[in-house]
Amino acid sequence: METLANYINGEFIPPKSGNYMDVYEPATGQVYAKTPDSNSADIDDAVQSATAAFETWSNISRNERSKILHEIANGIESRMDEFAEYESRDTGKPLELAKSVDIPRAVTNFRFFADHALEFETESILDGNGSINKVVRKPLGVVGCISPWNLPLYLFSWKIAPALASGNCVVGKPSELTPYTAFKLGEICQEAGLPKGVLNIVHGSGQNTGSAITSHPEIKAISFTGGTKTGETISRTAAPQFKKLSLELGGKNPNIIFADCDFDTMLTSTIKSSFSNQGEICLCGSRILVEDAIYEKFRDAFVEKTNALIVGDPNDDTSKLGALISKEHLEKVLTYVALAKEEGGTVLAGGKKTSINDRCENGYFMEPTIIDGLSADCRTNQEEIFGPVVTLIPFSTEAEAVAIANSTDYGLAATIWSGNPDKANRVADQIDAGIVWINCWMVRDLRTPFGGMKSSGVGREGGDEALRFFTEPKNICMREV
Ligand code: NAP
Repeated sequence: METLANYINGEFIPPKSGNYMDVYEPATGQVYAKTPDSNSADIDDAVQSATAAFETWSNISRNERSKILHEIANGIESRMDEFAEYESRDTGKPLELAKSVDIPRAVTNFRFFADHALEFETESILDGNGSINKVVRKPLGVVGCISPWNLPLYLFSWKIAPALASGNCVVGKPSELTPYTAFKLGEICQEAGLPKGVLNIVHGSGQNTGSAITSHPEIKAISFTGGTKTGETISRTAAPQFKKLSLELGGKNPNIIFADCDFDTMLTSTIKSSFSNQGEICLCGSRILVEDAIYEKFRDAFVEKTNALIVGDPNDDTSKLGALISKEHLEKVLTYVALAKEEGGTVLAGGKKTSINDRCENGYFMEPTIIDGLSADCRTNQEEIFGPVVTLIPFSTEAEAVAIANSTDYGLAATIWSGNPDKANRVADQIDAGIVWINCWMVRDLRTPFGGMKSSGVGREGGDEALRFFTEPKNICMREV
């Protein structure tokens, strides 16, 4: 059994307490490694090493930093298959998905911010009366990056890359459930020549390690992706210390299907937006709103396609869904299916735990599930489930679709399917969501702002927004003499 270590000051070291947690492979239900459960003493060390590294890292040229980030990207890319295997083993997601999405995107994150930081310019504002305002941006110092289990290296790198590219030093924590690719990132950083202390990766639980990061007085900003409840807890700790906060939280995304859409394209994409990564993507459309005129046609075709999806061993190329992240999460998702039935819903497909033969017989697998017959305001349609469960809700008018779409506390993402661009844009304009896709899903340009409204978050990541978050602007106003 492998024992993971923290990566602090460029070295792999054990947690000071000597405490470890089991790491499970969701597809088998077996423990395969032990990961540190670090506490505030480890975070103190990480902050100390990051603080010592900051002077040099913040003062080397942007080009130098960019080169090192490209080296990190090269390092991950050269071990793409290996990293994909680690990610699939930790999360239960199909290996094919880790190979085609997770790890390539982690590489792209490093490359994108390595380049984007070079183009992030100081602004000059001339007032026309003889004074010039120069807005310079300086890195914050030591920042904390905390990421969830569903897209482990993808989201960890989405935070770390802009933080480092803009000259900060980082104390990062991956989820205790999926520590392995973050652990291996330490090796990549050593090989890439990242100076000691610039990136520190500390493993452990949210309660011990995460809270030690958010409460540490020397950590100037927290970039967090995870659940809305955890976001609240973090805000309570970090806000009184006036830390900068970027919170990317939960969602309950509507997928609005109008009768005039391209039916086949919509259906293929809706299968993906419902069940990719076992529905464990914050951007999955979990409430499918369907215009009355095509409700039955859509329902029957969607059920048929869903029943044809193979839930199986993540290592198997034919598997479209793998295992859910943990036994506890599987039980939570099943509880929502039971709740939906109590609330009057009809399970049209799936609804149950499923078992896979041989090596995966104790894994956390579940059938992709479709439920209809529920009111838009019931708990099943209001709370985030974060699993392979979607509901169907009919609507008859644009106004009704908008009202249902906006009826939850969340506002992360939405998808609209229509052949009428005016209507689609009109609806998009009224939806409370940080991103709205029209006739597509999960199409991302990393220069665009990414984040949620309402309980889905505070602030935006991506492109300039991320570089603005990780820097402090200073206005220098000079009158010409
Ligand atoms: P989570 O339980 O909130 O955990 C997220 C991270 O925070 C983990 O590293 C966790 O550590 C840590 N953490 C937990 N309690 C903490 C505390 N008190 N202080 C500091 N850190 C703490 O979320 P999750 O279950 O991993 O992820 C699923 C959620 O993430 C869903 O709600 C999903 O919608 C959301 N998500 C949002 C986005 C987005 O971009 N908006 C993207 C992906 C996922 P441990 O895991 O070690 O406890």
